[in-house]
Amino acid sequence: MEIQGLQRLTLLDYPGKLACAVFTRGCNLRCPFCHNASLVLPHQFQTPEISLEDFFQFLSKRQGILDGICISGGEALLQPGIEDFIRRIRDMGFLVKLDTNGAFPERLRKLSEEGCLDYVAMDIKNSLEKYGQTVGISNFSTSAIEESVDFLLSGTQPFEFRTTVISEFHNAETFFQIGEWIRGDEHYYLQQFVDSGNLVGKFHLHPVDARGMSLFKEIVSAYVPNVELRGIQDITSKEGDALCTKSSNATENLSISISKKFAEQY
Ligand code: SF4
Repeated sequence: MEIQGLQRLTLLDYPGKLACAVFTRGCNLRCPFCHNASLVLPHQFQTPEISLEDFFQFLSKRQGILDGICISGGEALLQPGIEDFIRRIRDMGFLVKLDTNGAFPERLRKLSEEGCLDYVAMDIKNSLEKYGQTVGISNFSTSAIEESVDFLLSGTQPFEFRTTVISEFHNAETFFQIGEWIRGDEHYYLQQFVDSGNLVGKFHLHPVDARGMSLFKEIVSAYVPNVELRGIQDITSKEGDALCTKSSNATENLSISISKKFAEQY
């Protein structure tokens, strides 16, 4: 178990909790929009920011101050020793939130069934049809992802699903399909994409503007009523007129697509 990075305080990563966030390195996926290239691409790996023992010393000084720890990646479930790491944190009285891409359902299930996870945030990258393209792996099998989704939807583990929305990968149709797939009363967050400048992929990708995000939310809410938007910014002021035009076009296409869908239904 190696901790690549440590954020000593976060108010955002663990809903409603005062937490710190640890970032593990290595991931089995290659999402082109991933903003953590230095945690995913081996040639960008750096010296771990903190040793395990120093981390636990840090935690011992935060007892009674922090509520919990958010364990993120990369993909944290790839780490050998993740189970012992989590148990040790919980033994110190902290809550544990795990961020996962859902590719390791057995490890997720085991930790959950042992009562080691207080909260899970699982990525839903796209509709099943577009999954491989969205995670940067051709011929990607979605069976493990589907197993994790089924496990979370059918069990008692507190969790959320979340999707980072990218203009090049998502449209109205994908959100109809995602909604059908993850239908339920769980919390589902649509997050606006932000280009960190150090993405895993080499393409220039774009966020969807606020109007498009709201339309996607409306579509999904027919299947998952507890859907919310996260991190919505006025991207037209940041990205300029070209993006504004692009996003507006995307939204127009969305409206057409939604109208078509309604037209099909009625
Ligand atoms: S966004 Fe994709 S590539 Fe990046 S850490 Fe998450 S699953 Fe891995």
